[in-house]
Amino acid sequence: MSRVFNFSAGPAMLPQEVLERAREEMLDWHGTGMSVMEMSHRGKEFMSIAEKATADLRELMAVPDDYEILFLQGGASSQFAMVPMNLLRDKTKADYLNTGAWSKKAIGEAKKFCDVNVAATTEADGFSSAPAQDEWQISADAAYVHYTPNETIGGVEFNYIPETGDVPLVADMSSTILSRPIDVSKYGVIYAGAQKNIGPAGLTVVIVRKDLIGQTLDKTPAMFDYQVHAEAGSMANTPPTYGWYLAGLVFEWLKEKGGLQGMAEINKRKADKLYQAIDTSDFYANPVRPDCRSWMNVPFTLANPDLDKTFLEEAAKQGLTTLKGHRSVGGMRASIYNAMPEAGVDTLVEFMADFEKRNG
Ligand code: PMP
Repeated sequence: MSRVFNFSAGPAMLPQEVLERAREEMLDWHGTGMSVMEMSHRGKEFMSIAEKATADLRELMAVPDDYEILFLQGGASSQFAMVPMNLLRDKTKADYLNTGAWSKKAIGEAKKFCDVNVAATTEADGFSSAPAQDEWQISADAAYVHYTPNETIGGVEFNYIPETGDVPLVADMSSTILSRPIDVSKYGVIYAGAQKNIGPAGLTVVIVRKDLIGQTLDKTPAMFDYQVHAEAGSMANTPPTYGWYLAGLVFEWLKEKGGLQGMAEINKRKADKLYQAIDTSDFYANPVRPDCRSWMNVPFTLANPDLDKTFLEEAAKQGLTTLKGHRSVGGMRASIYNAMPEAGVDTLVEFMADFEKRNG
C-alpha cells in the first residue's frame, strides 16, 4: 500500500496515525463488539467518546467556559443561514467583510434574513489581500460582524483578529481552525466544516458564546437553533457520530504533536518553504499580497498555462495529487492542512524545481 500526498482543499488528508487507529477499532471498539458507527448515540460508550472529544477540543483551543461547543451536521454552508437566524436578535442589519468566494456565499445567504452592509471588499483587487481594519465602513447598528479568516479558494488570510468592541465577531474558520492558537474570547461565533483540519466531511463544529443563544428569529426551525443543540449536548437529533469520533482521534493526535502551538510552528515552516519556492522562481507565481498569504491554501500559476496538464500528470506520478486549482481560478492550489506531512511539501518543492528546470 502506498499513500499519496493529497493536496485537496477538502475533504483533505487525515493523519495516517488516526486512520490506523480507526482501522484497529473499526470492528470492535474497546471490547464492545461493535463499531462506533453502530453505537447508539445515547449509550454510555458513545457518550464517553463525545465527552472526551469535546473536552480535548476545549483544551486545544483554550475555549473559555462561557462558550458552547456544538457538533452539528449541515456543513459550514448551513452556518451561513444559522448565523443570522441566531444572531440578529432584535436587529435587522449585519456587517460582512467580502474577501472572496466563501465570504460572498455567506453574504448571499445572510441577505435572505437581513440588511447586509458590506463593510469592506477586496473584489476590486481580485481578492488578493485582506482589508485593514481602518478601511472598513461599519454600520452603527449591526447585530454582528462576519468574516472569513482564511479564504480557501483565493488563499487569502487575515493576519489580524478584527476588533469589533461589543458587536459580536463571527468567523467562518473552515479552512484555518486548529492551524495555530487563536484567542477564542475575541469571537461571538466560530464555525467550521470538519473536512479540512478536524475530521471527515459531514460534521460541523460551532463554538458560540452562551449569551448569544436563545434569541432566534421567529419560526427558526429547531435544527437551526443553537440553543436547542446546546441544551441537548448536540444530541437533539442523531449527531454525526462517526465524524465526531474521528474528530476526537484527530484532537488526540494534535495534543501529541504539541497542541496548536506545535502545529503553528510546523504549518508556518511548511508554508514558508512553498512560498519561497514560488517567489524565488520566474516560472511560478502567487497573486496574494505577501502579508495576507494563507498558511493552509497556496494557489500558484505556471508562467505557461499550456503546461498545467503536464505538471498535474507528472506530479501525480510522483504521488503528489489533487493540485489542480479551483475551477474559478485555474492554475494550481496546494492545500497543506495539519495532516499534510512536511515531507509532502518538501517533495512538492523538489518536484516544482525539477519541472521548472525541464520546462522553464
Ligand atoms: N467556508 C469555507 C471557508 C470553505 O472552505 C468551505 C468549503 N470548502 C465552506 C465554507 C463550505 O463548507 P461545506 O461544504 O462544509 O458547507
